[in-house]
Amino acid sequence: MGGPWDLVVIGGGSGGLAAAQRAADHGARVALVESGRLGGTCVNVGCVPKKVMWNAAHLAHLLGDAPDYGFRLAVTGPQDWRLLREKRDAYVRRLNDIYAGNLERRRIHLVRGTARLTGPRTVAAGSEVLEGRHIIIATGGCPLVPDLPGAGLGITSDGFFELEHCPARTAVVGSGYIAVELAGLLQALGSAVTLLARHDAVLRRFDVLLQEAAAAGLQAGGVSLRWHSIPEALERRADGLHLRTRDGVEHGPFDSLVWAVGRLPATAELGLEAAGVDSDAGGFIPTDRFQETGVPGIFAIGDVTGREQLTPVAIAAGRRLADRLYGGMEGRHLDYRNIPTVVFTHPPLGTVGLTEEQARTLHGDAVRVYRSEFVPMYHALTEAKPKARLKLVTAGVDERVVGCHIAGPGVDEALQGFAVAIRMGATKRDFDDTVAIHPTLAEELVTLR
Ligand code: FAD
Ligand code: NDP
Repeated sequence: MGGPWDLVVIGGGSGGLAAAQRAADHGARVALVESGRLGGTCVNVGCVPKKVMWNAAHLAHLLGDAPDYGFRLAVTGPQDWRLLREKRDAYVRRLNDIYAGNLERRRIHLVRGTARLTGPRTVAAGSEVLEGRHIIIATGGCPLVPDLPGAGLGITSDGFFELEHCPARTAVVGSGYIAVELAGLLQALGSAVTLLARHDAVLRRFDVLLQEAAAAGLQAGGVSLRWHSIPEALERRADGLHLRTRDGVEHGPFDSLVWAVGRLPATAELGLEAAGVDSDAGGFIPTDRFQETGVPGIFAIGDVTGREQLTPVAIAAGRRLADRLYGGMEGRHLDYRNIPTVVFTHPPLGTVGLTEEQARTLHGDAVRVYRSEFVPMYHALTEAKPKARLKLVTAGVDERVVGCHIAGPGVDEALQGFAVAIRMGATKRDFDDTVAIHPTLAEELVTLR
């Protein structure tokens, strides 16, 4: 198959695959370049293997609760990490193959190699030069390793997925999604975890209710939290890794240290200048609401744009763009407001819309907040009594729900439906008028007073 192509997509991750396939479904002739494994971050070193590990950690929590429900269990050894890893990796490989098959079925020309823009319409990849009427940049990013002495002794989330056994003592540096998720699941699977954060909270971009719930959940699970810990140097000694922080404290020894301090966009080697595409100070590619860069015909979607770095966001942006370019759906674009997201801790945390603080900045005194804290029924019988927490943030005389923040068992599944209602403009009255499902945790959201 030769060019020129209607569409050349750089990157076969969540966003690139979604855009390429939707474009092909609309009849476009598409080429896609991928330098690594199809599926990108999410499938290979992100959501998918992470959720497998979260499931294992969830089981560990259930096993801990089982005696309180009358089960006499004898767990005869530590969790078999190697078996879990083998099964997890086999599942990911199956997904890689399924993605390749999906491209083949749609006659999308897949080029295995590293792509580089050579002009506003051309992409060089391996021995091929691909000419496209449109180009989509969907190259995602990679974990950031801080520039500190000895930093290379640590690993990142990528390295976490390569661990052959569960480290006995782990340090996790950071306070965002990845830090709290990996800290929680490593602790549940048998590691003694210390989480080091620069400030005095985790998930600082989330509503305070979720910041507190995350810290409480980690602590209840046994994670040791160290606040105001700014890393300065990492060193390996005979007994393990030692991390010095700026306050002069030395932390350790650890068997493994995970840097979870954010991600960098994959734009440095992309030849942006050859095509005239701008990037911001962090290397991210800004776009307009139609995902178009400053160069007409060149678009960027997903993590590389630095907006909500979530798989469904990359997919939604890619599909909407393809619908607009090739499906005749003029004006179609992704609305980045009210994007729901879950942090996979134990219990999980869910959020959609504005934090209370954001709502007060935007709507002032017109904000009314409803909250609740209670021990979920599941824990009525367990020795541990972790509390679930809910908050609804409303604005205006009609009390439109502008934010919903929930922490507790099952909220990862419960949030999706509430996100639909909130996107549609539901008011507190709509919530109140909805009959509850009993006995559940989510029913509390429709009975808040
Ligand atoms: P990617 O999926 O990163 O895909 C980019 C692709 O481009 C890669 O395959 C890469 O190899 C390729 N590429 C890069 N440069 C080139 C080049 N020059 N030439 C050719 N190919 C190139 N999100 C969620 O929604 N839920 C979760 O639970 C979740 N968990 C996560 C857990 C972890 C540990 C991490 C790291 C991320 C997680 N995310 C999660 C975020 C999610 O993985 C990303 O938002 C999503 O993968 C972004 O998709 P993308 O298409 O923008 O980029
Ligand atoms: P995040 O942006 O979530 O968090 C990184 C945090 O690390 C920063 O917010 C900052 O917090 C802290 N930090 C930054 N630099 C340093 C430093 N030098 N030393 C110490 N701490 C530092 O990034 P992640 O890497 O956790 O995740 C990347 C993205 O991937 C997320 O934003 C999310 O979009 C996506 N993701 C989604 C998941 C999901 O949907 N469940 C799961 C995992 C990832 P502070 O300012 O408080 O110090």
